[in-house]
Amino acid sequence: RDRKKALLQRINDLAKDFFYENLRRHEAAAEARRYLAERGLSGEVLDRFQIGFALPGWSALLDFLSRKGCQPHDAAEAGLAVKGDSGRYYDRFRNRIIFPIWDPVGRVVGFGGRVLDGSLPKYLNTPETPFFSKGRILYGLHLARPAIRERDCAVVVEGYMDAVTAHLHGAANTVASLGTALTAEQGRLLINYSRNVVIAYDADAAGVAAAMRGMDLLQELGFQVRVATIPDGKDPDEYIRRQGIQSWEKLIGEAPSLIEYKLQKAMEKGPVRTVTGKLEVMRQVFPNLALKNEVEKEEGLKAIAGALNLTWETVAGEFKRFEANLG
Ligand code: ATP
Ligand code: MN
Ligand code: MN
Ligand code: MN
Repeated sequence: RDRKKALLQRINDLAKDFFYENLRRHEAAAEARRYLAERGLSGEVLDRFQIGFALPGWSALLDFLSRKGCQPHDAAEAGLAVKGDSGRYYDRFRNRIIFPIWDPVGRVVGFGGRVLDGSLPKYLNTPETPFFSKGRILYGLHLARPAIRERDCAVVVEGYMDAVTAHLHGAANTVASLGTALTAEQGRLLINYSRNVVIAYDADAAGVAAAMRGMDLLQELGFQVRVATIPDGKDPDEYIRRQGIQSWEKLIGEAPSLIEYKLQKAMEKGPVRTVTGKLEVMRQVFPNLALKNEVEKEEGLKAIAGALNLTWETVAGEFKRFEANLG
């Protein structure tokens, strides 16, 4: 198993270098270079993230790997080739921008590939294998670790481009969960570096729903969680490029705590007037409050009372009942 692991690692490393060289030198990558330039990605950040390009055609990578003495079935096991119905292997990634995916200690464990146009699927990833699981990595963490420690705060975004653009502009404490569902394993990867995290997911419905799940999960792991809302339905990549990194840092710096965020969300459609409405808001935020220390509880109860137009005593009384039922 260790030998197999070493072989798959070698294949991933070779593929990463092949994709990287293609993007820089191959004539078939001209459109990809133009695409990335249009999205604001320059030489230096392309190097830092080792961004590459998978050539069009069915076997460019397989041919390259075979020249290096690698077997197609091993490439398939690494997730880089697919076995067709006829039994022949072909490249999984074709005519896509390639984002190598590292584990936290800096080994290339997989890839994400983006199309250059509107075709689907927009992103293709290395499939889940015993050696690669998206739920156990955070994209960019191998680069972000020092900054997360230094700033004592991590920012979690959704996508490759969000992380790359953030790093390009100096927000180097940014990692991406690669899709919407944040996992406990991903959370645990961060906890060694900082207990403070800001979730900054896309402003669309999928992003908000994922943030809602992710924030509870992170808080249960012991994080102090804050949640940023990106104005105008944007994602971090677009926001940073349009509004600039200073606006972004401000948005992150001023992001409300998890409880404040949930209260804001509950108040979004106007003040909550009914008894059942008020009880429902409390039901949503009490579990988060129960995990807090006494000072935070007091502050949280004040915020809830203010938001629901109730006295502190009433909210505290309801919370006491809630806590009693927990035990
Ligand atoms: P771009 O800015 O390049 O259009 P994005 O990162 O904004 O892409 P989203 O649709 O917001 O794309 O998705 C966020 C992340 O979810 C992606 O970066 C990718 O990691 C993952 N993802 C999105 N679509 C797919 C897909 N079809 N298959 C696998 N992963 C996907
Ligand atoms: Mn999204
Ligand atoms: Mn985007
Ligand atoms: Mn997005």
